[in-house]
Amino acid sequence: MIVRGGTVVTSRGVERADIAIAGRQITAVGLNLAEDGEEMDASGQHIFPGGIDSHVHFNEPGRTEWEDIAHGSAALAAGGYTSFIDMPLNSLPVTTDVAAFDRKLEAMKRSSKVDFGLWGGLVPGNLDQLEPLVRRGVTGFKAFMCPSGIDEFPACDDKTLGQGMKRIAELGSILLVHAEDPQALREPAGPTAADFLDSRRPPAEWQAVWTALTLARQTGCRLHIVHVSTRRAVQMVRQEQQRGVDVSCETCPHYLLYADDDLERLGGVAKCAPPLRRPVVVDALWKMLADGHLEMVVSDHSPSTLDLKQGDDFRKIWGGISGCQSTRQLLLAQDRLDLPTVAAITSSNIARRFRLANKGDIAPGYDADLWIVDLSHEDVVRRKDLLYRNQFSVHEGQEIRGRTVKTLVRGEEAGAGQPINQSAN
Ligand SMILES: [Zn+2]
Repeated sequence: MIVRGGTVVTSRGVERADIAIAGRQITAVGLNLAEDGEEMDASGQHIFPGGIDSHVHFNEPGRTEWEDIAHGSAALAAGGYTSFIDMPLNSLPVTTDVAAFDRKLEAMKRSSKVDFGLWGGLVPGNLDQLEPLVRRGVTGFKAFMCPSGIDEFPACDDKTLGQGMKRIAELGSILLVHAEDPQALREPAGPTAADFLDSRRPPAEWQAVWTALTLARQTGCRLHIVHVSTRRAVQMVRQEQQRGVDVSCETCPHYLLYADDDLERLGGVAKCAPPLRRPVVVDALWKMLADGHLEMVVSDHSPSTLDLKQGDDFRKIWGGISGCQSTRQLLLAQDRLDLPTVAAITSSNIARRFRLANKGDIAPGYDADLWIVDLSHEDVVRRKDLLYRNQFSVHEGQEIRGRTVKTLVRGEEAGAGQPINQSAN
């Protein structure tokens, strides 16, 4: 097959080019390719490498009334995503042992419309499961430094975290941490949004990031900090990178589109942890993305039923944002990042960091994972267009740019996902 006449966007730049595909892979990229085969006309359209969302909670098996793999992966495909990596919670059982991994893998093979990987969990008492999980093919591990919100996935204290990181380093894998220091968190003083914000202040993030970085240095474990919400945390990660420590971090659209003073207006659908931050921090995160100092934007799609996101008492509202369908379109609408940067932070950088084989670029030898998109189209997020199991999102009403013409997964229209392989390096 040949995709003709589109404008190809990669992390390296933007160029007019045809894309030749044979089997599952891209075989050539260039002007006026002579290859013959079925032709797809992409003139007037842009073609990005398929998005990779390395932070979603699809909750299957076990909490499928919140979200399931079929709905979640269809939402991703609609937004230009061709791969995701699912978190070890909030499915039931949580993915902390081989039996749970096998169950989830079967569910993924059965229902996912795009390619997938699985994070394993690091929790107190499962050190002996780390090696078997690596052999099964986990992309890496996730741990919480503070309570996760569900009892089945307990937090690691510093000692457990250190032991886990030592083991993960020996296995050549990577650890992701939710970095908020439990000792710096407080019970909210009352039921309001302001009380909630006040209970999870930025120093809780800084303290936990500092601890995690220290342990990474001591153990040699590759480390990734999820959903970073402050400038200072990104700067700490950056400083460690410059010292040669193998560490990275990500942020999410909600930390880029909303600030703490929006929380009361937005209500429970915007409750997340860490919480929304000051407008000046939001602005700083955008600048760090544009400068390449912050390398990934992922959704942290963590949906639930609508009733759990409503009510007058912020303490009782479920913390989690529903949004994976819109990440790229939201970023594009803000017009603060050039197109190659969007390709990098939503695909290429993620594939490279997590060693996803043949993913994240439009070049010969890569999987033909492509988002063909009409960038002249501007709209807002509408509830009726959302494909989640629970049709709502904090992003409703937000401006989006880009209408999906087609999402190709390994050269085929999204529909039957496969496990992502890990590359050797
Ligand atoms: Zn999450």
